[in-house]
Amino acid sequence: MPRRVVFLSGAGLSAESGIRTFRDSGGLWEEFNIMEVCSAEGFQKDRRKVLDFYDRRRADLADKRPNTAHAMIADLKKRFPDDIAVVTQNVDDLLERAGCPDVIHLHGTLRDLRCEECTTVWDIGYEGIAGKRCPACSSDRVRHNIVMFHEEAPGYQTLYDLIGETRGKLLVVIGTSGQVLDVGGMARYYGCSVLNNLHPEPMIDSHFTKVFNEAATSAAPKIAMLVEEYLTTGKLCEEKGTRR
Ligand SMILES: [Zn+2]
Repeated sequence: MPRRVVFLSGAGLSAESGIRTFRDSGGLWEEFNIMEVCSAEGFQKDRRKVLDFYDRRRADLADKRPNTAHAMIADLKKRFPDDIAVVTQNVDDLLERAGCPDVIHLHGTLRDLRCEECTTVWDIGYEGIAGKRCPACSSDRVRHNIVMFHEEAPGYQTLYDLIGETRGKLLVVIGTSGQVLDVGGMARYYGCSVLNNLHPEPMIDSHFTKVFNEAATSAAPKIAMLVEEYLTTGKLCEEKGTRR
């Protein structure tokens, strides 16, 4: 049976768990040159600097905890596993740690490394990359499993297929500003679309059926009610233009 609900999340979902982002004030952009540490060119120029950067991000993750918005998504996914797809731009593991199965990470995963020889991906927890070798082919040409600027993001094809599968149904976008993905454009394909971002962005918000401009943990119970109502009664949320 085709799935009926897509959760698409970004940095705003994990912000309340203390995960630093690039775009927020006090964010990583102020401390690092993004093109040096997050682009294919930067990686070619200074491999060590980039690997160190992701080592620090991975280590930072160890003491972070999922919040109630991660828990809300995990709970729904566990109760309606065949109806819901969970897609995230986040590279942290907080959805998984909240108990959410089958998370699709569009930009890769911090805890994993990838072998540049044979493409094997494996979990190293919160450790550094130093001394790590591929468990499949023993190569030491290993790198972070994060999609950088000017690299291919294979997860996007999965997302486009998913949009085709769930067309006319329910899209829930949490904590992504629309600067990376055209979420407003995506919303047009859905019978009902829900957006939760802390700050209003009229150009994006206007494409959505319902908009919650508040923190993710504050919107979570309302979003859970909407999703649950749809999955149990088949009724989509009201007509476009409704605001809460
Ligand atoms: Zn390998």
